[in-house]
Amino acid sequence: MSRFEEWKKREETVLCKTYGRYPVSVDHAKGSRMWDADGKEYLDLLSGIAVTSLGHCNEELAEVIAKQAQKLIHVSNLFFQEEQLDFADALLATCHMDNVFFCNSGAESNEAAIKLARRYQQKVLGKDAYEIITLEQAFHGRTLAALSATGQAKYMEGFAPRTEGFVQVPWHDIEAVKKAINQKTAAVLIEVVQGEGGINTLSKEYCLELQKICQEKDILFMVDEVQSGLCRTGKWWAYQHYDLKPDVITSAKALANGLPLGAMLCTAKASQAFEFGSHATTFGGGALVTKVGLKVLEIMKRDNLADNATKLGDYVRAKALALNSPWIKEARGLGLMVGIELSCSADSAKLVWDKFVEAGFILNLTQGTTLRLLPALNIEQNDLDKFINCLEALLKDIKE
Ligand SMILES: *Cc1c(COP(=O)(O)O)cnc(C)c1O
Repeated sequence: MSRFEEWKKREETVLCKTYGRYPVSVDHAKGSRMWDADGKEYLDLLSGIAVTSLGHCNEELAEVIAKQAQKLIHVSNLFFQEEQLDFADALLATCHMDNVFFCNSGAESNEAAIKLARRYQQKVLGKDAYEIITLEQAFHGRTLAALSATGQAKYMEGFAPRTEGFVQVPWHDIEAVKKAINQKTAAVLIEVVQGEGGINTLSKEYCLELQKICQEKDILFMVDEVQSGLCRTGKWWAYQHYDLKPDVITSAKALANGLPLGAMLCTAKASQAFEFGSHATTFGGGALVTKVGLKVLEIMKRDNLADNATKLGDYVRAKALALNSPWIKEARGLGLMVGIELSCSADSAKLVWDKFVEAGFILNLTQGTTLRLLPALNIEQNDLDKFINCLEALLKDIKE
């Protein structure tokens, strides 16, 4: 029995069956490479779902982790800690926000945003408003409120009732938002580039119009940057492509390159909603993770990884289109959020994906026929060429 088979069997007896896993075991990883428990090498084009943006087991970060682990790891949020403040300063310097609340995940950062929006309406404005408007195909996380914001039936199955106060409207339809807004509306929450939804980018016109409506009605304009943030799309934050000024942004995935760290950032106006005791977390923003987060931001800036994401993202999309394959419907995205939509059936797309894994490439298949790439921001161009060569070969194999 291979180690993969062995682990698979063990897992069945000890873990909750929540994950339909890839047929891959991972023993160790470095940069954009992973090795399975039986010695096979993989090129990782997914980086832990946009988390390890600086590559696996980054040496500079490993050093920071080792050193900080000897100084201070966790004492809870009962105490003042310089690591947290240094990271907050650095994070706020990437955008127009004034304050940050640290947590541990994307879902939690959205929970914080949802709570902030409700409390802003109810305590700051004195209105009985609580509804959050989100867009179809959104993904905001799996806790009950974030799930209700996500609103996709497949994730809701068996978890009814949906948390009250969430309204979903068709994607990129400004009239639908206008119609959905009422006295009870507290906030609108969007992803400028939908990740799990299949790499769909909202237009500048739509976003500006949406922001204007929110400002007019004193509704909070909130952007989920959990996947798109931290240089992934070619700017610190995806909303910065459009000169937007959201009231709230949420972040997590790449913040500490694999250690759990989330953040909800907001303007001074929105921040009034939280007072002492309004919201809290035991782990959020501990000294170890924030020390690592600080180094992540330093490296992203020092190595111009935003520009790198733009350059490499444009490169891989152009290369995919240059294959001139009838099976490529679209190559879309922003920076290194890359979606290559195939024009074959979902069954054939699944077969293409299976063969990619067999050939040693880790990527994602989303919404049935869209290959999704979220590689490390410092991946070598040469590695993207390897992916393109494999794609070319596999597309030639499609039989329909
Ligand atoms: C992944 C993701 C989340 C949820 O993050 P978790 O850390 O899994 O809770 C929320 N929003 C977006 C846009 C995401 O991509």
